[in-house]
Amino acid sequence: MKFATRAIHVGQEPDPATGATIVPIYQTSTYTQEGLGRHKGYEYSRTGNPTRTALEECVASLENCRYGLAFASGLAATTAVLSLLEAGDHVVAGDDLYGGTYRLFEKVLTRQGISFTFTDPRDISKIEAAFRPQTRLLWLETPTNPMLTLCDIRALSELARERGAIVAVDNTFASPYFQTPTDLGADITVHSTTKYMGGHSDVVGGAVATNDAGHYEAMKFYQNAAGGVPGPFDSWLVLRGLKTLAVRMRQHEANALAVAEFLREHPEVESVNYPGLPTHPQYELARRQMRGFSGMVSFTLRGGAEAARRVIGSVRVFSFAESLGGVESLLTHPASMTHAAMPEEEREARGVTEGLLRLSVGVEDAEDLIADLDRAIGRAS
Ligand SMILES: *Cc1c(COP(=O)(O)O)cnc(C)c1O
Repeated sequence: MKFATRAIHVGQEPDPATGATIVPIYQTSTYTQEGLGRHKGYEYSRTGNPTRTALEECVASLENCRYGLAFASGLAATTAVLSLLEAGDHVVAGDDLYGGTYRLFEKVLTRQGISFTFTDPRDISKIEAAFRPQTRLLWLETPTNPMLTLCDIRALSELARERGAIVAVDNTFASPYFQTPTDLGADITVHSTTKYMGGHSDVVGGAVATNDAGHYEAMKFYQNAAGGVPGPFDSWLVLRGLKTLAVRMRQHEANALAVAEFLREHPEVESVNYPGLPTHPQYELARRQMRGFSGMVSFTLRGGAEAARRVIGSVRVFSFAESLGGVESLLTHPASMTHAAMPEEEREARGVTEGLLRLSVGVEDAEDLIADLDRAIGRAS
């Protein structure tokens, strides 16, 4: 079956008890057992819940994987992947990660004896040089926030495999509709389902998918042992979001391309970052490893901080807010929001200047989005 069909049907058979067409929200913590050792596969909802099972099966299918696990947040999912490591192990990671991932690695997991080397994954020789005999995991994120740079999942996975390391890819920005990292050689895919998979800015969640039975069993053990599970209603919300993932992603992409092309021609705009523009430095890689370019766009205003502040104050359709991937368009100022903790010099060196704005382009009418930006930027000059 094709993606859009799997999104609506996998793990979502009519309810065996009632025939309910939609997977019910099994809002229960426990399950009445028929007798000693006789039950229907569920005993306690941290260990397993039928609504969560439906979500896990659907996520696995969309990532072309055998196994899926759902978590209470993207960072809980990330923690489950890192639970595969032990004190003394080393991780090579891209240097342009989601801020919360960096914080988890640097401020929490280093205290537990795991060490990290962050380097630019666009340069394969830098990743290669960062490997040590103790390296057990290569952690990648592509495309990245907010500069929308890519790394070559296939080439980097090959390199890691030769050195006996696991490869995990944070696939949040692309969604499985546009990119399936395990098809390119990665071992584990990680999502913040808060973003495109949920798709409606009404739930926080996370997920992992893999084809490796050993990694799956270990992360499933950790899921139950540590307990960072999503509740039945949150699982249901993500599952509901997944049903429209295919149509949403197509519209996010069409709108993002229209917005990126508009911005590229705008005299007040210095530069536009969107992997779907042929001028993007990794356009060829994007075409090779992604099936589409998703809905995230960032751009730099010539007028710097002052111009950015006025755009933020002038937009009406775009909301000035953190997060991304919902049906509504959002605008963020990375320098003062997601990247505020980064030293200014390093931030600027990465292009995260005071004049940089990031857009999560929603699925409203593209003409309205462009008119909103045109008016807001026009006022900036
Ligand atoms: C939001 C996000 C996360 C963290 O997910 P939460 O659901 O907020 O815990 C991780 N990676 C990326 C790329 C994200 O955008």
